[in-house]
Amino acid sequence: MDGAYPEPGAASNSGSRAAKAVAELKSRDRDIMLLTHTSAILGWDQETYLPSKGIDERSAQLALLHGLTHERTIAPENRSLLDAAGANADGDPSLPPLDRAFLRRYRRRYERAVKLPQELVVTLAEKTSRAQAVWVEAREADDFPRFAPHLQGLLDLLLEVSDRVGYDEHPYDALLDQYEPFMKTSSVDRIFTGLREQLVPIVEAIAAAPQVDASILEREFPVAAQERFGRTVMDALGYSRDRGRLDVSAHPFTTTLGFDDVRITTRYNERFFNSAIFGTMHEVGHGLYELGFAEELRGTLLAEGTSLGIHESQSRMWENMIGRSRPFWRHFYPILRSHFPDVLSDVDAEGFYRAINRVAPSLIRVEADEVTYALHVILRFELEKALVSRTLSVKDLPEAWRAKSRELLGVEPANDREGVLQDIHWSMGGIGYFPTYALGNLYAAAFMQRINRDLPALWTEVGEGNCSSLLSWLRTHIHRHGSARTAEELCVEITGQPLSAEPFINYVREKYRDIYGLD
Ligand code: ZN
Repeated sequence: MDGAYPEPGAASNSGSRAAKAVAELKSRDRDIMLLTHTSAILGWDQETYLPSKGIDERSAQLALLHGLTHERTIAPENRSLLDAAGANADGDPSLPPLDRAFLRRYRRRYERAVKLPQELVVTLAEKTSRAQAVWVEAREADDFPRFAPHLQGLLDLLLEVSDRVGYDEHPYDALLDQYEPFMKTSSVDRIFTGLREQLVPIVEAIAAAPQVDASILEREFPVAAQERFGRTVMDALGYSRDRGRLDVSAHPFTTTLGFDDVRITTRYNERFFNSAIFGTMHEVGHGLYELGFAEELRGTLLAEGTSLGIHESQSRMWENMIGRSRPFWRHFYPILRSHFPDVLSDVDAEGFYRAINRVAPSLIRVEADEVTYALHVILRFELEKALVSRTLSVKDLPEAWRAKSRELLGVEPANDREGVLQDIHWSMGGIGYFPTYALGNLYAAAFMQRINRDLPALWTEVGEGNCSSLLSWLRTHIHRHGSARTAEELCVEITGQPLSAEPFINYVREKYRDIYGLD
């Protein structure tokens, strides 16, 4: 095929050869995307409506589709097509910018997949599914030693993955890169160090201040009314029902089944108001991102979030910065009260606002408030890094967890169920995933500084229940790019500098100074 193209080095020829290769790669990419979305349909169904006895064949269906997807991803033709597209990571310089962004992502996916032998991928999948089952039992029985050998096995495999994929500075880089592409462990270190130094004293000051009473949130909130109210909010945020839907699952999630089909789930707890409404707003944030990609990205791998940190910035912005703001509830609290006239008859908007913003160091990450949340993540990041550098052994994890919890949050779990065994991530081989949660909070705060400058009427509008200018700002500056811009490129473009903890710290200081009367 190469011989068909004479005169190597002639720019126009290499350009047209590259353009042809890109067209062929796009057609291959489209098939991979269709397979991925098909798997997503089966996965969504499994979490929502699948009858329990359907699970065996469902697992086989998904395994077959994953196998086919992997085969397409590592097909040898990709190599020659990528070579034909140009010597640089993003292809021939004569190609349009969007094609070069496409090539950068396509090459990254291909090279990572091709470096991992089939046997390693299969072993990892098998060990992960076993480790998950053992983790469920070990957590139930508060028995870390039962889970430890499985975690050790996964860690060994992940270190092999890291070696094969390769890294510049730290073996953790190769794991982090799966979730936060192009970000280095050293950057996370730098950002988290600043965050930790400034956050710990704020949490201590809040703990020493008079506490907020949040017991009103644990009254009885009938599920049907919660659902009606949740859908009202969902509509107000701009999540379109003709391109998505809301269902119920054990753990809320967002999944993309097609360019025009992005679904979210939530869960209802009659005795805890926060679960459903903030879960719904969180997933709406993810969903709006997935629904906001530019039309020209349709059918390509650029039509996906650029990193989990950026994804999480979208969910947290809607859940916390909007959903836990005073202006938002200025509009929505009277509506909420009309859904729960008896339950909330003695609670005013200010009392409600303070309750949903209660801060308290706690043991469980998923129940943490927006201030202490990052400390839960830093704890996990520091332990993961030590495991990956082999300076901490798996058997010493529970004690290391307790020590870090004391140091960062001032609380210590009485058992491992509320400590080292609380999260599913490690049993799924998800080492490197946790930092993205905290990065999301930091990105959201950094973007919001710029949004506040660009949209001076924002909070007046939010106070009237109108979130449309925020959504169109996010569409223009973040959503439409999909993964054509890296997280860092987006951050620099929007804020003028790489990510730091400052904007988040400023946001927290200002908001909670007012709620807790700090100096
Ligand atoms: Zn999320």
